[in-house]
Amino acid sequence: MAEAVTECNIKVLCRFRPLNQSEILRGDQFIPTFIADDTVSVGGKSYAFDRVFPTNTTQTQVYNTCAKQIVKDVLGGYNGTIFAYGQTASGKTHTMEGKLHDPHQMGIIPRIAEDIFNHIFAMDENLEFHIKVSYFEIYMDKIRDLLDVTKTNLAVHEDKNRVPFVKGCTERFVSSPDEVMDVIDEGKSNRHVAVTNMNEHSSRSHSIFLINIKQEHVETEQKLCGKLYLVDLAGSEKVSKTGAAGAVLDEAKNINKSLSALGNVISALAEGTKTHVPYRDSKMTRILQDSLGGNCRTTMFICCSPSSYNDAETKSTLMFGQRAK
Ligand code: ADP
Ligand code: MG
Repeated sequence: MAEAVTECNIKVLCRFRPLNQSEILRGDQFIPTFIADDTVSVGGKSYAFDRVFPTNTTQTQVYNTCAKQIVKDVLGGYNGTIFAYGQTASGKTHTMEGKLHDPHQMGIIPRIAEDIFNHIFAMDENLEFHIKVSYFEIYMDKIRDLLDVTKTNLAVHEDKNRVPFVKGCTERFVSSPDEVMDVIDEGKSNRHVAVTNMNEHSSRSHSIFLINIKQEHVETEQKLCGKLYLVDLAGSEKVSKTGAAGAVLDEAKNINKSLSALGNVISALAEGTKTHVPYRDSKMTRILQDSLGGNCRTTMFICCSPSSYNDAETKSTLMFGQRAK
């Protein structure tokens, strides 16, 4: 069993992407000032996090600073969750996935896959590992299995220990980083097929990749389990009051509701004094219940655009991150 840890295990990291070509051409201003390792200033106001990553930070630096340790912890029997929060095109998918088959540009998920197996090969050979992954998305409060397109509305149930899980969700056993990558590729292509505009869709749904690790000692039969949720959240931008109607407005309200439910859970956990953590307010927080707060390792990436054009969204994103501090 993992020993009790009393410190707060929620880390909030802020990452700014560089200005893109069209922002430069439009003449947008670069608004953040990086004043310390953990502080950024925008519009005269300072925001402090566990760490701030300026625009030139590499994928390797991001991984080594904040995700590497979580792999060790999950192999040690802890649960964990890594989120990426931010408006559309702020760098969430770049941070979580990056370019999947490019060793320099790949993001956290493929690096975790490699790291897990590297650790396992170096561990006691009397340990037997069973690693399985699931990949699903939450869209309009419905859970869709990305590894089986026929499962479009899965339910959240509780197991005998009252741990919530997505009932009937496909689980794939994996025994190498390549197999993990194959599962991700498969899920992504299923996701493409199901929708007409992938960019729009991915900005309105939460995608969740789950890695479950079970280890058993062949002689003592002692078992240890850990799991890690990797969450690429829906875009946090507010839909403009004018223009949005019908389905788009419904989607926006839905996203807003689920992101604020997440914010409420994280801030209740960060405060540490609250006896009631409102996990039950959304499907996502229910699913993540035993992998958020407490002894779990929780890391939230706050992804931001540096452009003056996105000034208001960036400030609201930074405020969301501050709630978890
Ligand atoms: P999101 O998932 O938040 O909608 P993306 O991760 O798709 O945003 O990023 C939008 C674009 O910006 C992509 O083309 C991506 O490659 C690029 N980008 C994002 N973050 C960075 C970064 N830190 N460095 C370089 N390019 C980035
Ligand atoms: Mg994305």
